Amino acid sequence: MKSRTCFSRSGEPLTEYQSESHARRGADYVREKWEKDMVPYPCDECGKWHLSPADRQTPSTYCHSCGKKLYETEEDAQRRAEIRREEGGVDLSVYKCPDNEGWHLTKGEF
Ligand SMILES: [Zn+2]
Ligand SMILES: [Zn+2]
Repeated sequence: MKSRTCFSRSGEPLTEYQSESHARRGADYVREKWEKDMVPYPCDECGKWHLSPADRQTPSTYCHSCGKKLYETEEDAQRRAEIRREEGGVDLSVYKCPDNEGWHLTKGEF
């Protein structure tokens, strides 16, 4: 399924997956077919899963309290925000998770 809300840097719609296991299967397929190393990630925008090239990944875990990706350090979150800005012109700000040790990204002012 192509996403209607999320696009890659080149403007192509991203493929969306309903779950992490679907996304992993997608990543395996891409690896076999195109020999590209892709990593599934939960999307902040649409709540589904997409694939991202492994070298563009920033270390993160999933925060179940907020339903968002949780970045270990403020720097990782900033780096991710910059990638997102390049990719889609989305302006994201970084804030500290109120429930867990880590950082989130949010659109607009917080
Ligand atoms: Zn998305
Ligand atoms: Zn959180």
